[in-house]
Amino acid sequence: MSEDKNSVVIEEYLREIYLFQKGEDPLKAVHLASRMHSSPSTVHATLGRMQRDNLVFIDKKKNILLTEEGEEQAKDLAIRHNLSENFLCDILGIPWYEVHKHAHQLEHAMTPLVVEKLAKFLEHPEFCPHGVPLAGFGEDSFQNSFSLDEGQVGMSVKIMMIDESLEDSEELLKHLHEKFIVPGSVHAITERVDATHSLSIESRQGQVTLPFEIAGKIQVTRICSDS
Ligand SMILES: [Zn+2]
Ligand SMILES: [Zn+2]
Repeated sequence: MSEDKNSVVIEEYLREIYLFQKGEDPLKAVHLASRMHSSPSTVHATLGRMQRDNLVFIDKKKNILLTEEGEEQAKDLAIRHNLSENFLCDILGIPWYEVHKHAHQLEHAMTPLVVEKLAKFLEHPEFCPHGVPLAGFGEDSFQNSFSLDEGQVGMSVKIMMIDESLEDSEELLKHLHEKFIVPGSVHAITERVDATHSLSIESRQGQVTLPFEIAGKIQVTRICSDS
């Protein structure tokens, strides 16, 4: 594939479509336009190119789906993104809540050889600093995991993954960091208020209340506590 500017745009589209496919709703061009902050005509033109390159197909209901080739390229991009994050965090010492935006730039400039060497240098990490499995969505990587908003009072949970969709807000990630909501940390669910769509969790760093909307993007597993 050519390394011109357009391939960066295509890669951004691939990522958005790939991330969206995780959810249950079908992806339409209008959603893509708002997510990419583009006009419908730009989205239309880009999707046209992607169809020509056999990266996406659009079904009868006008849902946008990745082809096998598109999915492969999106996965490759996810690996480059996550590896970049690990490098920035583990080697350069940039805090985990800041690496996402820098990785966003780096990921487009990595050749297959660089990816291979970097993976080796980092000793083949399995997860990015946010807990996202390196090869993309490893739903099976977290057995018995569930999203925090499904948790009940009294449970002790371990944070497994902060969803990629929260990474765009550095402010939010920093807040989570300050509240010790980082992959690997353990919290007790102390309150759940369905009326306000929020729950409170407590760790040795104190208590924090999260709206279901955010808690829903944090994967946890239940751990057994002695008490
Ligand atoms: Zn990221
Ligand atoms: Zn990440």
